Amino acid sequence: MKTVTVLGATGSIGLNTLDLVERHRDRYAVDALTAQSNVDELAALARRHGARRAVIGDPALHGRLKAALSGSGIEAAAGPDALVEAADGDAEFVMAGIVGSAGLAPTLAAIRRGAQIGLANKECLVCAGEIVMREVRRSGAELLPVDSEHNAIFQVFDAERSESVKRILLTASGGPFRNWSRERMAQATPEQAVAHPNWSMGAKISVDSATMMNKGLEMIEAFHLFPLQPDQIVILVHPQSVIHSMVEYVDGSTLAQLGSPDMRTPIAYCLAWPERIAAPSPPLDLAAMGQLTFEAPDETRFPALRLAGHCLRAGSEAATVLNAANEIAVAAFLERRIGFLDIAACVEKTLDRINIEDATSLEDVFALDAAARRLADSLIPGSSSQK
Ligand code: NAD
Ligand code: MG
Repeated sequence: MKTVTVLGATGSIGLNTLDLVERHRDRYAVDALTAQSNVDELAALARRHGARRAVIGDPALHGRLKAALSGSGIEAAAGPDALVEAADGDAEFVMAGIVGSAGLAPTLAAIRRGAQIGLANKECLVCAGEIVMREVRRSGAELLPVDSEHNAIFQVFDAERSESVKRILLTASGGPFRNWSRERMAQATPEQAVAHPNWSMGAKISVDSATMMNKGLEMIEAFHLFPLQPDQIVILVHPQSVIHSMVEYVDGSTLAQLGSPDMRTPIAYCLAWPERIAAPSPPLDLAAMGQLTFEAPDETRFPALRLAGHCLRAGSEAATVLNAANEIAVAAFLERRIGFLDIAACVEKTLDRINIEDATSLEDVFALDAAARRLADSLIPGSSSQK
């Protein structure tokens, strides 16, 4: 039996992970489950999966969680430190399924004790990739990429002979606004932005897919996960989301991983690695699909790609700022405080105006992340710092 902790259990990644755990009860047992604020769902999941511990991020909800778990024998805890303790427990596998750089501290705790980690929380690597990867090398933790593109690359990347890799092709669906003009995007609503054509995901990553910032974050994620130079990371728009990414070798061979757009495939790969387990993802019927198509990305309509490409080359501090400003701008868009095109505009202004200093320690990174959030927030109409 492998013990599993799921950080962000109530989210899209968390629920898909628990679906697989439930289908393979003979192989996996649940240690801790965490969520930020949805107490009832967290308690129900903890009971259903026989968790040892449930942790709610919002400390004000401790009493409600205890009440919801009374009589179950499941331990209840709350607050940011308890989230870190959950990751720091003794589960062999930790699913890093929290959204945003809020997941950095718990994910690092799991890394530092050398656990096996399913990394969905890409913002961790964009915010603090150098520190995270340094800790992975030091502790010997196994960092297994859950993000479908990075999981695909992991499956076909010859790590023993990385010098024979010419480049990687990160595929992108193009999101719900792939064919929209800038004029039309200016009017886009949160409902339209979260309606992804192929994948069902949390609100933040869905908006990131619509701006294509998601692909930008994924370029930086790939840079940290694999031994690659920025110029070796290329984006290819592929609207069907069947080829999840490709690795091109110096001899002209290109290897790809294909599958239906269902996160349970890459999650199953990580849970069972280096073995494989069955996943209920719909089988791929290529004959029925008929064709797979490809397009070059358009940085003019999707400036987030240009900004992320710039940060990938500029270094880790720029990426910290990019991620922080984007988190603030996406939240403001979802709250209808800014328009869709203002998301990338806010990120660009934050990058232009912030005074970037070297951030080598975790404290430096947290300080830079906080400064970028404050600056991005001050650029949003009606924000508290503007009044
Ligand atoms: P989601 O919004 O569906 O779920 C997020 C989870 O994190 C929830 O359980 C929530 O309670 C918890 N959470 C939110 N804010 C928190 C905070 N401040 N502190 C602690 N916990 C918090 O998100 P998701 O779609 O499952 O995405 C999770 C991560 O996985 C993101 O980084 C995303 O980019 C990445 N990812 C998701 C998918 C997908 O298909 N959903 C695919 C690839 C990568
Ligand atoms: Mg992805």
